[in-house]
Amino acid sequence: MTSLIIVGAGGRMGTMIRNMAKADAAYTLVGLVERTEYSSALQAENCPASNNLADLLPAHKDAVVIDFTAPEVSLANARLCAQSGNAIVIGTTGFTEEQKASLAECAAKTRVFWSPNMSVGVNVLLKVLPELVRLLGEKYDLEMVEMHHNKKKDAPSGTALRIAEELAKARDWNLSEVACCQREGIIGERPHKEIGIQTIRGGDVVGVHTVYAMGPGERIEVTHQAHSRETFAAGALRAAEWLFTQNAGTLYTMSHML
Ligand code: NAD
Repeated sequence: MTSLIIVGAGGRMGTMIRNMAKADAAYTLVGLVERTEYSSALQAENCPASNNLADLLPAHKDAVVIDFTAPEVSLANARLCAQSGNAIVIGTTGFTEEQKASLAECAAKTRVFWSPNMSVGVNVLLKVLPELVRLLGEKYDLEMVEMHHNKKKDAPSGTALRIAEELAKARDWNLSEVACCQREGIIGERPHKEIGIQTIRGGDVVGVHTVYAMGPGERIEVTHQAHSRETFAAGALRAAEWLFTQNAGTLYTMSHML
């Protein structure tokens, strides 16, 4: 049985993970962390709660922390776990390169798992798309459109950036040099060495990513649609169980687990 402390326990992902963990005998909830002003939803839970992860770690050395919050919060919690030795699964997106480097430093000291998308489908796509790009050859233009709900804070999505990273690698390109996240005005012809990533926000869309490979006389469109947050929550719970048995030293991702 895996003991869990959920951070952001009152949020969209935290609520889904909390409810799925309660319904599964493989997990025990030992702590919930949420900002005071958002913690009313947790009062009905028969579980210690706090607005600070540091309050709960000393009594639960074996607990795996699951954190879906915001980059600066998740990084601070990874640092706390690096001190306490707890394992931590992070699903938060929007980390800067510096913050990702700091996460890797924490991973040298304790077990850290981070994935911007915990669904099996997206992670299979990450393996398959580079092969598609290589097989098509250099002539095909690569573009992506991502669509999410109107509460999402970061753009492009962490998943879109992760997919774009793999597309760029398949062409031996550096994503930071070829990503084009905005077009407006007289922009001229599309440079070949470019990966367009366009963002749509609205309603309650859980997450849609479409990659376009556009060549002479044809195009391929590959779409992943998340129908519910359940797929991400299931991935996070599976990651927590898996991470518990791993050793520190690697910043683990879904590809390590799958
Ligand atoms: P949300 O806003 O619904 O939930 C975040 C929760 O974190 C909120 O309840 C907020 O009060 C809480 N929080 C913020 N600061 C906190 C702090 N200091 N201490 C404790 N709690 C704090 O957002 P969400 O839709 O659940 O998404 C959260 C993050 O997860 C985002 O970065 C999102 O992009 C990412 N996400 C990742 C995946 C994935 O598969 N990896 C899937 C969906 C969402």
